[in-house]
Amino acid sequence: MESSTSHSSPLSRRQFVGAAGLAGMGMFAANSMQAAEGSPAPTSTGLFDVPRNSKGEYGLPPLPYAYDALEPHIDAETMRLHHDIHFEGYRTGLNKAIAKMTEFRQKGEFPEISYWENQLAFNGAGYNLHTVFFENMAPAGTTEPSAAVDKILADAFGSRKAFQEQFSAASKAVQGSGWGILGYQPFGKRLVILQAEKHQNLTQWAVIPILALDVWEHAYYLKYQNKRGDYITNWWKVVNWDNVEQRLEAAMKVT
Ligand code: MN
Repeated sequence: MESSTSHSSPLSRRQFVGAAGLAGMGMFAANSMQAAEGSPAPTSTGLFDVPRNSKGEYGLPPLPYAYDALEPHIDAETMRLHHDIHFEGYRTGLNKAIAKMTEFRQKGEFPEISYWENQLAFNGAGYNLHTVFFENMAPAGTTEPSAAVDKILADAFGSRKAFQEQFSAASKAVQGSGWGILGYQPFGKRLVILQAEKHQNLTQWAVIPILALDVWEHAYYLKYQNKRGDYITNWWKVVNWDNVEQRLEAAMKVT
């Protein structure tokens, strides 16, 4: 395949975004970034580095290897459908939900907000997790765990073998659709294995909490009973904006 990424130093996504912006392009150049067959899997330049155009809309991260590169373990047709159709569906759904939210804020009205929050979570979680999932794979035999990875996993889980056994068990036991996920938890600086059943449960994986409002009844019922709206109105009067700023600054340094 003729490709701009067939050389040894593929254009990073950050560079891609900059180059696309400079060129004044209103569309994504993802197809031209398709990795050439046999080229090494590119290393992501950042944890949360995904293609975005000048309007801030998400692009489809290109598959970092050929569709058939994972054969015979994962077949080319599955990869094509999974990446080009399913992943693309999450991408367009996420961009649509973000656009709707922008429209709502401009109007100062939030019709069907629960539906659109669910769309934002479902598609945002799907987009984020698929970005990680496709980057997490490479042709069989091309990589192996380093001593450093072994040590980190052994420190956290006893051994890499124990980690893999728990990860496999958790993934196998997911009820219905979902994911097995190894994650790093900034609170406590701990690695955790999580089952994600229904990733659309109103969260987006990889989000770092900045400002959190507890709306469980135990947080307000003694004083406000069923008047959750009054509690929320008054909660804004006690928000620590200095803390919000500190958390924003720390989180936005994560790359
Ligand atoms: Mn999928």
